[in-house]
Amino acid sequence: MKKILIANRGEIALRVIKTAKKMGIKTIAVYSEADRNSKHSRAADEAAFLGSSPSSESYLNIDKIIACAKERGADAIHPGYGFLSENATFARKVEENGMIFIGPSPYSITIMGSKLEAKAAVKNYNIPMVPGTDQPVTEINKAKEIASSIGYPILIKASAGGGGKGMRIVESEADFESQMSRAVSEAISAFGDGSVFIEKYITSPRHIEIQILADKHGNTIHLFERECSIQRRHQKVIEEAPSSILSPELRNEMGEAAIKVAKSCHYSGAGTVEFLVDESNNYYFLEMNTRLQVEHPVTEFITGIDLVEHQIRVARGEELSILQTDLKIKGHAIELRVYAEDPEKNFLPDIGELKQYEIPSGDGIRVDDGYEQGDEIPIYYDPMIAKLIAYGNDRHSAIANLKFAIDHYHISGVATTLKFGKFVCENKAFIDGQYDTHFINKYFSPEALIDENEEMAAAIAALKHYLEQQKKLKLIHHQNDNWLKRMKK
Ligand code: ADP
Repeated sequence: MKKILIANRGEIALRVIKTAKKMGIKTIAVYSEADRNSKHSRAADEAAFLGSSPSSESYLNIDKIIACAKERGADAIHPGYGFLSENATFARKVEENGMIFIGPSPYSITIMGSKLEAKAAVKNYNIPMVPGTDQPVTEINKAKEIASSIGYPILIKASAGGGGKGMRIVESEADFESQMSRAVSEAISAFGDGSVFIEKYITSPRHIEIQILADKHGNTIHLFERECSIQRRHQKVIEEAPSSILSPELRNEMGEAAIKVAKSCHYSGAGTVEFLVDESNNYYFLEMNTRLQVEHPVTEFITGIDLVEHQIRVARGEELSILQTDLKIKGHAIELRVYAEDPEKNFLPDIGELKQYEIPSGDGIRVDDGYEQGDEIPIYYDPMIAKLIAYGNDRHSAIANLKFAIDHYHISGVATTLKFGKFVCENKAFIDGQYDTHFINKYFSPEALIDENEEMAAAIAALKHYLEQQKKLKLIHHQNDNWLKRMKK
């Protein structure tokens, strides 16, 4: 493998370029109109223009990307995450055009791309699953019957769902019909597939996922867990490894279960098996993501393994060079996704220019980003600016390091999740490791972000201004008095 095209943008394109460079592999970046002068397009050995800014005309344009790769002599394509990374047709076309897709086979992607097919595939492997249906539900009365036999609250989910979309919580039978029709129409408009199914709604879950690596020779290992329970809109904002609730036995058991899930679809490459863990530490298989995950750096910190390097090695047919017994957890890592979102406005995405952009640095601090000062955050793509990852010898020092890094990360021009990250680092439930996926609803309110020091500084400035105005007024009165006195004379 001499040249890789990276079919992605921003921080993840830069992340792949970094490892490719280390391995002596040449890189081709692709870019859209909005990314014409972006950091990622400048960092690769070559850059190819894809088309106008909307993803459909650039980063999702399969034929154009494959044509660019062939024209420039790439022998492999890395899809990153998002965009075409879980598109089986793309993976197949890459192979049909004589190149290597750095990821699993189209077969594995297809199976795990459908939550229902995934459940069917793992059925014979004795993996605990959230109680629910394993077939799409269509007939409303039958669906209601199933829901009441599972017991409310339940969750209606789109089989083709992703990114936290296509999920509806139903608290009682009275709401079932309306929520189901909403779920179906949402699933059709977002994914072009209206299949929905029912799952028990786990009321106080933690989202814990296992990183796996598999080669094409039947070897599969796991690289422990990541805890991703700090979420908004069912999507992750903060992730950490290891989880503060897993015992070594449970970690081992869930790791073994994840390996079985990977084997159920003949997986190769890096992948993530997601579980929900309830209050009694029962775990349930949720889904498998067949790509590199956004939050992979926390795993890299605690294992010392470069996941992109192993993706590339496996893709070129090498056997895994690491054994399960070689792996040990060392220290603790936490990642904050720095989004251009306003936590004070329900995490509403923001756009604009990064007027000030200064990143922190120091021991155990890693910033994976795709922007520079003066760049615009485009409206066309995911609003993530960067990932800030902090490492420490233990959880306590990782939290302290993250707080330090947040204090030294200076962004102005757009609202960001940095202040929210600081709030989490200072929250008792988080510090104690006692939290679930409802953390934001339970503990966070915009008022919590009001910085007392900032408030005090603003109050002092206002008082100063007031006193100065008073002084000026007195002076004017004094002058007027003198003038009057003179006039009277
Ligand atoms: P997506 O593919 O859209 O990311 P997932 O199935 O991975 O959807 O779930 C995303 C999040 O939604 C989980 O991390 C969790 O917070 C919540 N969730 C999903 N299924 C359940 C469930 N059965 N009970 C409670 N929460 C759930």
